[in-house]
Amino acid sequence: MQNSASLVVVLGTGGTIAGTAASSSDDSGYTAAQLSITQLLATVPGLARVQIESEQVAQIDSKDMSHAIWQALGLRVAYHLARAEVAGVVITHGTDTLEETAYFLQRVLAPTKPVVLTGAMRPATSAQADGPCNLLDAVAVARQATDAGLNGVLAVLHGTVHGARQVRKAHPARLDAFSSGDAGPLAAVDNGVLRSLAAQGVAPASGHLPPLTAALHCPVADWPRVEIVVSHAGASGAVVRALCADGVDGLLVAATGNGTLHHEIEAALLTAQAQGVAVRRSAQGLPGAGDLSPVKARIELMLALMPPIAP
Ligand code: ASP
Repeated sequence: MQNSASLVVVLGTGGTIAGTAASSSDDSGYTAAQLSITQLLATVPGLARVQIESEQVAQIDSKDMSHAIWQALGLRVAYHLARAEVAGVVITHGTDTLEETAYFLQRVLAPTKPVVLTGAMRPATSAQADGPCNLLDAVAVARQATDAGLNGVLAVLHGTVHGARQVRKAHPARLDAFSSGDAGPLAAVDNGVLRSLAAQGVAPASGHLPPLTAALHCPVADWPRVEIVVSHAGASGAVVRALCADGVDGLLVAATGNGTLHHEIEAALLTAQAQGVAVRRSAQGLPGAGDLSPVKARIELMLALMPPIAP
């Protein structure tokens, strides 16, 4: 289907892309989330010819991302996507939890228009800032993805387009910090042109799973509490028992190897399960969480446990 809409809405949430340092040579000693989305857009002259609206939804270092911001962001994205004149939405975001927000939005919205997250590894004040180019690429993808057969929530960084299910931050500092693992990226952005990677074919960002919309309407205080526990050498069941005593609704265990668990943590998890706590592991095994990373499997379990929307 040809996409005739041309407006791109850019939603700002903070991150390094909006970060500032005292010196243009300082790429690490900076404060994230300092520039507004209006200021950020002004640093990209190439966007002057594009029809853009912007909105500041949050202003945080994404290490501090909260469920409340996720809900507010999801509602703003849904509002803008429903406008006929909007081709797609771009979200500027810190890189630390970008993959979690991407997966959350994919599962609660399952959008048919592109929703493109981008960020930066260097602050806006850096002499070699990567944010402006990433933002330019993200807007290009938001405008071209539908015609290229790409849909859903995407992440665009360092000229590479990743799907929400696969994307993960794989390096703490490199400009090409993001990876889609064995699946590989969906596409590349070359001089503002979106090129699908034929080897992967054109695929939706996260399969055809229907949206789990309850998270957009359920008060955040009522969202199920799902925590991650990690199996490791020398593990005990103490953390699992403490979380159960504290009223957790679900536990996601990040397993070792091919889904293996230390026997002490496994025993504690089986007891938790018998007490009614929902338990999943992030690799194969008991009720498995498939190929999802622990942070995304946590989101999946939380959304699965979400109270249904009142009629
Ligand atoms: N801590 C920053 C954030 O996630 C890192 C970044 O944006 O690259 O907001």
